[in-house]
Amino acid sequence: MTCKEAFQEISKYLDGELAADLKRVLDEHLCKCSHCKVVFDTTRKTIELYCNGKLFPMPERVRDRLHYALRRKFQQKAV
Ligand SMILES: [Zn+2]
Repeated sequence: MTCKEAFQEISKYLDGELAADLKRVLDEHLCKCSHCKVVFDTTRKTIELYCNGKLFPMPERVRDRLHYALRRKFQQKAV
């Protein structure tokens, strides 16, 4: 799995849309790649902060903004 692929899977993972086998591949990549791990951790923390420990669907607008921020962050660091 490349970092670009991992990044796409991170989005799905955090949306709860990632299949179990892909999740495993992503986990393996995160163990080996500190860059993707940081992106993953930061994004997850942002979501947890937003949800404040409660489980409810994230409004689409927030999700879009998060994906946009993620994309930008990834592109900046991946150059
Ligand atoms: Zn990576």
